[in-house]
Amino acid sequence: MRIGTITNLAYVATVLLTMLAGLSFILSAHSALLERRAVEQHLALGELVDELDIGAEKRTDDIRLYFMRGAEDELAAFYVDEKDERGFEAAAQRARTLGATEDEIAVLNRIVTEAEALDTIERAAIADYRDGRQEAARQAVFGPAHEAAHKDLLGSVDEVQQMITARSGEALSRAKARSDLFDIIAKSMLALTALVFLGVLYFVLKRRIATPIVAMTGIINRLAKQDFDVEVPQVARRDEIGEMTAAIAVFRANGLERERLAAELRRDQRIKDFILQMMHRLQACQTQDEIADVVTLFMPQTFPGMAGSLYTHDEGHRSLVPRSSWNGPETTPAAFPAEQCWALRRGRPHLSDSNDHDVACPHLEETQRPALCVPLTALGETVGLLHLEAAELDRLEEARLYLELIAENLGLAIANLQLRERLTGMAIRDPLSGLLNRRSLDEAINRIAKAPAPHACLMLDIDHFKRFNDEFGHDAGDAVIRHVADILHSALPEAGEVFRFGGEEFTILLDGVGEAEALRLGETLCAQIAAAPLSDHGRFLGTVTVSVGVAAAPQEGPVATLLARADTALLAAKTAGRNRAVAVSSLRGFRPGAAAG
Ligand code: GH3
Ligand code: MG
Ligand code: MG
Repeated sequence: MRIGTITNLAYVATVLLTMLAGLSFILSAHSALLERRAVEQHLALGELVDELDIGAEKRTDDIRLYFMRGAEDELAAFYVDEKDERGFEAAAQRARTLGATEDEIAVLNRIVTEAEALDTIERAAIADYRDGRQEAARQAVFGPAHEAAHKDLLGSVDEVQQMITARSGEALSRAKARSDLFDIIAKSMLALTALVFLGVLYFVLKRRIATPIVAMTGIINRLAKQDFDVEVPQVARRDEIGEMTAAIAVFRANGLERERLAAELRRDQRIKDFILQMMHRLQACQTQDEIADVVTLFMPQTFPGMAGSLYTHDEGHRSLVPRSSWNGPETTPAAFPAEQCWALRRGRPHLSDSNDHDVACPHLEETQRPALCVPLTALGETVGLLHLEAAELDRLEEARLYLELIAENLGLAIANLQLRERLTGMAIRDPLSGLLNRRSLDEAINRIAKAPAPHACLMLDIDHFKRFNDEFGHDAGDAVIRHVADILHSALPEAGEVFRFGGEEFTILLDGVGEAEALRLGETLCAQIAAAPLSDHGRFLGTVTVSVGVAAAPQEGPVATLLARADTALLAAKTAGRNRAVAVSSLRGFRPGAAAG
């Protein structure tokens, strides 16, 4: 109920109660008036009876004094009093107007009759006295007849007085009881009015206004300090406080919404910042491994609740090879054929989830988590795949635009790097054998020249290579070169690098290896190559052998002369009959530290 309604109702109740109290006071006053009238009536009637009684007594006294003293003035007084006595009937009428009852009036009339009877005795006594019968006259006023009449009169007076007293007492107690009742009602009404007033004051001011306002003040203060965690109580009241509470709840809801939007903006900005940082790092990556490292570092920061893996195409562009993963995806990163991914087949992002909203990619394991595959493309060519998993589908949907943006940049970065790697490969590798070229060898020589560790060099030359060209054609010759290059590449120890020096000649550089060990390797290679069957397009090309010259640095000579010394040893191996390895230090006239001539 509204406070206004409550106060209005309380006002009406207070007015009604006050009016009732006023009415009760009026009735109480009226009862008091009746009480006073009863008293007055009692007194007036008492006076009237006394008058009658005293009048009779006085006349008797007058006549008795006359008889005793013979004084005429007492007789005159008797007659005056007797004249007054004529007012008896008027007294009865007065008694009626004073409210005497019929019974009382009857007794009053009897008093009048008895007084007249007394007068009759006394007037007869006066007549006797005047006629000289003084003794008889005295006997009459002092005798028993007079005494009896006088006694009757006194008895009647007493009777009527008792009647008046009894009736007046009753009227008085009735009027008093009514007056008391109305007095109690009036006071009760006043007390009730006061209670209603105090109750309304307590209920409206304290419970309905003060207490809620104090609570609201605390809430408003916290809201003013942007503390939107404060709970606004659910108030079902339909009054001003209820409206105020509802308004505060709306204010808090707006604040929460503002905070949510601000948090969303912050989160969005944070994601953008991370993506930007990741892009910058990706631009500077020099290898695909570095790209994988950057992605593994930034993706969990950008999307904390999301797991994922980065795949790139293998060299043959047939399968996707895992490069890195983050936040522990449920799908174990493993190579899979490109056609097992719907995203790669369609060339656009594909969402797989356990609720069967769409076909799931076959390369995904039995995972319950929704997954998103985003192809990494550049210039229309697919270079890899970004695989994401989240606990909820919404997370993936929300981040989808950002993920596509990341995939686009990632694809470009990988494609750029692959292009660069291809161009670099073309610059440093020999396209026929796939081995490092002469330019790379020069760089490697310069590099090891600065290193203190021992180095060894093997110069290899295919024996009678020209024959293969001549007998089987130039392509067969190329096949022989590839055949030897493959054996050298696979037999190479970890600390070595193999180069195509030029034509059908190869160079091997070994780190931390001395001449003796290098010679052993040379001999092993000679044996392996000579033992390997050689064919090209189903044609048996015969046996291929190589001659090897071995040199070492820095003990046996400087790095600068390493190639020349190995070449000298190679020449010696050729001269000695080919298919063998010769160490330069074993040559006659060899001087350590000197370049071969
Ligand atoms: P030796 O045992 O003395 O080394 O005799 P050889 O025949 O191996 O040496 P020679 O220098 O006489 O012949 C080398 C030939 O290799 C000459 C050249 O035409 C040929 N050649 C050089 N580069 C290539 C190449 O890339 N492919 C093919 N098929 N032949 C090449
Ligand atoms: Mg040669
Ligand atoms: Mg040769």
